Amino acid sequence: MKKWLYLLIGFVSLPLFIEWGFWGHRHINYYAVFTLPKEMALLYKKHHEYIKEQAPAPDRRRYIDPNEAPRHYIDLDKYGTYPNFDIPRTWDSAYAKYGDSLYEHGILPWTIQQWYYKLVNAFKRKDLTGILKYSADLGHYVADAHVPLHTTANYNGQLTGQHGIHALWESRIPENFGETYNPYVGKAVYIEDPLEMAWKIILESHMRVDSVLELERKATELCNEGCKYVYVSRGSRQFRSYSPKFIAIYDSLLNGMVERRYRAAIKRVGSYWYSAWVDAGKPDLSELLGKKPKVKKEKEKEPFWAAIFHIFSRKKHEERAQKQIRGHVD
Ligand SMILES: [Zn+2]
Repeated sequence: MKKWLYLLIGFVSLPLFIEWGFWGHRHINYYAVFTLPKEMALLYKKHHEYIKEQAPAPDRRRYIDPNEAPRHYIDLDKYGTYPNFDIPRTWDSAYAKYGDSLYEHGILPWTIQQWYYKLVNAFKRKDLTGILKYSADLGHYVADAHVPLHTTANYNGQLTGQHGIHALWESRIPENFGETYNPYVGKAVYIEDPLEMAWKIILESHMRVDSVLELERKATELCNEGCKYVYVSRGSRQFRSYSPKFIAIYDSLLNGMVERRYRAAIKRVGSYWYSAWVDAGKPDLSELLGKKPKVKKEKEKEPFWAAIFHIFSRKKHEERAQKQIRGHVD
């Protein structure tokens, strides 16, 4: 019984659903603040820590909200091959054509659109809590859209024998080399059509899927199995992990791709925030500077009850849980 409890506690404390890694999401939201005009920057800088720390929150919500998982991806290859995808751009047309099956293959572009309008409305209401919450969330979804493996059914290389590539590309590489990236990307620009922009980002990402997979194969050839992995101990358990050498070989073959997508994400996140403020009629945010938001910082680790819920809902609704464990890597 005691052993079972320790196991469960160990399970609860593992960050199961990490995308762009916590490092990536936090840094993208953080540096997006520097793209903002001064009318916005004062407020965002006052709450810089919250915007940064809440960046990974949508991933953590997957534990407790069965609707959350499909918001983080779209399996474009389920609808054809580039550039001929048989998927209408607007939600109404896409839903009319595919109905609820849209959720199975992900709803990322429409999530970005939906959260954009939540942010516009929060600006219109001068609702400080909403502005901060929806800015942090929107930053997360826009950042996810910049990751090639969020646009394919082969999201973790599981269909091509490259299991683990998801975290390799978006967590291991930025964690190892992110400090050398240049996060200053200039000023935010106005986005005319938030949905069209979401599709543009997703198509850019999808075009890179083949290279992401192919170059990992090449890196594996260059670094034979003996040097691809190392074993690390955590307590009494051993985990297989990519070796620093392999990560470096793969990164050099990618030739700056991760940094380019990281920088593009920073610029687009800032631009979405800025455009939402413009579309709300450029409300004067200085009067919110003295206010306190009613925000509760979402916890880093899942509460005990959330993990219990997750385990049982997984047993009960196997299919739905399959969607939830999407992104469970390594
Ligand atoms: Zn995500």
